[in-house]
Amino acid sequence: MTTFLSPGSVLVADRLLRHGQPPIRCPAAESVLGDLRRRGVTSVGGPLRVFDDPDHPVSFASVLPGTGGQVGLGLSAPADDPAGQAVAATTLATWLAVARPRKVLLASPRSFCAGVERAIEIVRLLLDQRRGPIYVRKQIVHNAHVVADLEAAGAVFVDELDTVPDGATVVFSAHGVSPAVRADAERRGMRVVDATCPLVAKVHAEARRHARRGDTVVLIGHAGHEEIEGTLGEAPERTVLVETVDDVHDLVVEDPARVAYLTQTTLAMDETTEVVEALRTRFPGLRGPASDDICYATTNRQNALKAIADEADLVLVVGSANSSNSRRLVELAHRRGTTAALIDDVGDLRPEWLVDVGVIALTAGASAPSHLVEAVIAALGGLGPVTATEHEIGRETVHFTLPTTVRRS
Ligand code: SF4
Repeated sequence: MTTFLSPGSVLVADRLLRHGQPPIRCPAAESVLGDLRRRGVTSVGGPLRVFDDPDHPVSFASVLPGTGGQVGLGLSAPADDPAGQAVAATTLATWLAVARPRKVLLASPRSFCAGVERAIEIVRLLLDQRRGPIYVRKQIVHNAHVVADLEAAGAVFVDELDTVPDGATVVFSAHGVSPAVRADAERRGMRVVDATCPLVAKVHAEARRHARRGDTVVLIGHAGHEEIEGTLGEAPERTVLVETVDDVHDLVVEDPARVAYLTQTTLAMDETTEVVEALRTRFPGLRGPASDDICYATTNRQNALKAIADEADLVLVVGSANSSNSRRLVELAHRRGTTAALIDDVGDLRPEWLVDVGVIALTAGASAPSHLVEAVIAALGGLGPVTATEHEIGRETVHFTLPTTVRRS
């Protein structure tokens, strides 16, 4: 059992094979592979026969205590590739240097929220029932793994409706769309299935209500985010976007007595409170929600991380770079003075982050699948024994019903 190694490439062991002995698993292999790929080294994962491998004549491997017993770290390069051998040797040394026992504090709640679960279920059910292609406008939720899985199952992701044929089935993502997009789909006879999170839809309804009353609607959020584009589209002529307290100071409105505010659902709670307070100071008659529109899932994930971030040497947030609520979690840790990183999966783990790190707080944004968090714990367990403990600040029981157009069989 060997993996063919082309010249110039490095093998990363997913298990070490030793003559007459049971194989040793290498749970950190994906992280080592990610490290090499980031550095531009062609690399491949596979079993590595240690010491007597004719296909991988130069092996660098080590066995160490890990979670649940012995684990291995191993790399190999062809005998006629001294540069590859040097890379294999130094990479092994780098990862071995950060091997140690660790504690992982698991923030809870983490991972999928009710809006994300509903959106993914809608696409999956449509794929099961399909009689033609299922188009999804934009990423259904902001997670590369979720999108790749649904794409593999047959969903066709498009950026805009102009690439969708008239009359086709199209799903609107959890972040919502502007009325102009809905009108375009209707005009072209598309079968629309709306996966907009009900909590985003509620903000749209508030925007319409305030605008109908003649208020200037101040929308607090991040320019360019899909949710903001959709909400802005409800009353573009009456809505202004602000991101910071400075933006509030510069704000010019038609009638200071008729101002209402709304927020993106995935903002940082602390920063949003400051912006709302600045608005109240400038416009004492400000209308809006009791506190803000930040959703329960964003609030819970931020509070759960706050409860453990200070105890950790490093905060790891599983989520994609375009996930707003995931990025807010990283910022939250930074504001509290803890080093933090956003990772899409174990392949993004970097050895330099783990130097002298004994306690890791681990969480995931609302669009990141929980199995990716489990994979991170497993990978860390390939670098020494890991003790993982849940730190639950509360249970989430929110569930959203599916649109009537999508029925469970
Ligand atoms: Fe809905 Fe909040 Fe989840 Fe966004 S993060 S989909 S608003 S529940």
